[in-house]
Amino acid sequence: MSNNSITMALAGNPNAGKTTLFNRLTGARQHVGNYPGITVAHKEGHFTQDDQKVTLTDLPGTYSLTAYSVEEIVTRDFLTTQKPDVVINIVDASNIERNLYLTTQFLEMGVPLIIALNMIDVAKDRGIEIQSQKLAELLGVTVVPIVARSGEGTEELIRQAINVAKSDKIWTSRDISYGDDLDEVLMEIITLINESSFLVNNYNPRFTGIKYLEHDDQMLTKGQEADPLLAKKLEQTVGSISDHLLKTMDVYPEAIIADHRYGFIKSIVRQGVMTHAFDIDRLYTSDKIDKVLTNRLLGPLFMLAILFGLYQFTFSWSELPVTWMEGLFGWLGGIVENTLPEGMLKSMIISGVIDGVGGVLGFVPLIMFMFFGIAVLEDSGYLARVAFMMDRVFRIFGLHGSSVMPFIVSGGIAGGCAVPGVMATRTLRSPKERMATLLTVPFMNCGAKVPVLILLIGAFFSDHKAMYMFLFTMLAWLVALLAAKFLRMTVLKGESTPFVMELPPYRFPTLQGLLIHTWERTWQYIKKAGTVILAISILLWALMTFPGLQESDRLTFQTERDKITSTYPKTVQEEIQNITAEITLLSADAAELLEKLRKIDQNESAAALRNSVAGKIGRFFEPVSSYAGFDWKTNIAMLGGFAAKEVIISTLGTVYSMGEIESDDAGTLGQRLVKDPNWNSVVAISALIFIMFYAPCFVTVVCIAKEASWKWAFFSMAFNTGFAFLASVAVFQIGTFFG
Ligand code: GDP
Ligand code: MG
Repeated sequence: MSNNSITMALAGNPNAGKTTLFNRLTGARQHVGNYPGITVAHKEGHFTQDDQKVTLTDLPGTYSLTAYSVEEIVTRDFLTTQKPDVVINIVDASNIERNLYLTTQFLEMGVPLIIALNMIDVAKDRGIEIQSQKLAELLGVTVVPIVARSGEGTEELIRQAINVAKSDKIWTSRDISYGDDLDEVLMEIITLINESSFLVNNYNPRFTGIKYLEHDDQMLTKGQEADPLLAKKLEQTVGSISDHLLKTMDVYPEAIIADHRYGFIKSIVRQGVMTHAFDIDRLYTSDKIDKVLTNRLLGPLFMLAILFGLYQFTFSWSELPVTWMEGLFGWLGGIVENTLPEGMLKSMIISGVIDGVGGVLGFVPLIMFMFFGIAVLEDSGYLARVAFMMDRVFRIFGLHGSSVMPFIVSGGIAGGCAVPGVMATRTLRSPKERMATLLTVPFMNCGAKVPVLILLIGAFFSDHKAMYMFLFTMLAWLVALLAAKFLRMTVLKGESTPFVMELPPYRFPTLQGLLIHTWERTWQYIKKAGTVILAISILLWALMTFPGLQESDRLTFQTERDKITSTYPKTVQEEIQNITAEITLLSADAAELLEKLRKIDQNESAAALRNSVAGKIGRFFEPVSSYAGFDWKTNIAMLGGFAAKEVIISTLGTVYSMGEIESDDAGTLGQRLVKDPNWNSVVAISALIFIMFYAPCFVTVVCIAKEASWKWAFFSMAFNTGFAFLASVAVFQIGTFFG
């Protein structure tokens, strides 16, 4: 035989590397024609190895051997009519499970087979390692690992292929089980086929039987031509089992056969053939975990518990570092207080920078712990489960499963940002579902709102911080979903579209990964505080400082001071004038005078603030905002918050810093708010609700305009602010009524 040419055929999935291998083996000795009557190219080439002449055919790529496409028919016909001495099945090692599907069908055909395990370089890069020896044992065919592109292993492949071609092994159909029902029928069919040698010249009886079960048109036609009577009988047999399966399990035999082929592949792959950076066992462990964590009843309970745990963790662990930060900024303020001369610069640094930006930066430890917790949820794969579970809920409100990610990105668990959230809505294909998502994601508690919420919750509800944070998160979702439903029932009416999502397997987060994620986000927060927030803080400080008091008013305060001072003896007056930064022991009279003078100073600063540009704007809104319990100082903060929500803190910090002169005994911003008679827990809740739901910050609005249109951007501002105000008024009025 060695002088005759051996015929080999290359077969495999598209892109498995057939042509690459073909070109490498045959070089220029190839010619391309078409298969008769169709446009599929027929490529044939020649080469010699170890004195053996070989004729090689590059078959069209296919995923299967049913008769659904020309490629499949060409491949099948070539194999059954030309009967090459050996079929080289190229399997892409980086995608082995899918590629082996075609292999199972070659095994069923019973053709002489060898497997070229290609792209092992790609597989390696992806952390996949394939035990080719084990695979060969389990499949019962030779397996040769190759890299078609570099030629690694190809010589060995051809050597083995020549061996297969020359061996006298009799190839029969590999019997993969298709379950009791089908196996039994298949046995019957095979007996009938063997009895009358039905199509046996070209097809293995088992393969013919399987094709009949699969309702393969080409095979049915061939059967009718060959033996109409038997063909009819076979069709009836298959017809009755199909009816039976449809009635009992609501499936066609094709589906059962496909399932069992995949089952066969899975069992092979799981028997140590493939080791993977995310190995198969882990996929199964994931499935088991998911049985509990995404269970219809238990899943949501776990989700709520995990969320609550996250807040508990964040608050308890960050408590101490937050006080350190407060201490740090208090100390900084003290230094500036004692070193800089009185004047505009000092006021700007203390009130604008330290009390403003410092207030925002004070939350860095807390933000860090929260981001760390979220990184754990994200890196472990749990966040994807949250999306999966939320899909069920989202449907009800006219949103889509893909809406979940934009919501989470925007701060669904607290601490995101609506800008990437708005941009993430691009994955939604239905324009109406997308608009509904885009308009409601700003309701989430983004990273800028979180410190504001924490400030107010910490000041007014310090005993149940995690609890309140949890409740306000739930509230954000509720409002977002109801708003979405409202929009989908009115301006954005329309059908919903189906949702498919793959759950990645769970993985243990690496400490390094967690730290990097945490730091990236924390750094963004710090950077924003140091740039945008700093600029806005100083701008707002200026608005709160100028134009200052009129000369006449200033004189009034001065006269008052002089008048009080003159009622004390000369010695006391001198004592006051000589006060320095160092602690001085004062006489009782001097202390009393000092106290009185400070009161006047405070009144003067407060009057100056009232008279400033910001103060005027704040007071302008006071008649309306008082329905929600907000005084003019709060109004200034809310207006500032439109620039960026963190500014609410820095503005409150500045407002309360400028209202009082002595920062030492004034305490933290939270304590100052609690002392303010215009604030109480009802106002706090009303303010929290307003802050959560009013107009998105400026950057988000611009982003909405870019993603949708300015019309929708304005709609969003008006709709959100209107809604937020009504909700706050309702809370304040009801809360005040019930005390
Ligand atoms: P065909 O559709 O089966 O004919 O596949 P091709 O031969 O056209 O190959 C598809 C792609 O895979 C091409 O870009 C090849 O360069 C690449 N390729 C083929 N074999 C290998 C291999 O062993 N390693 C790598 N890295 N790439 C390969
Ligand atoms: Mg090709």
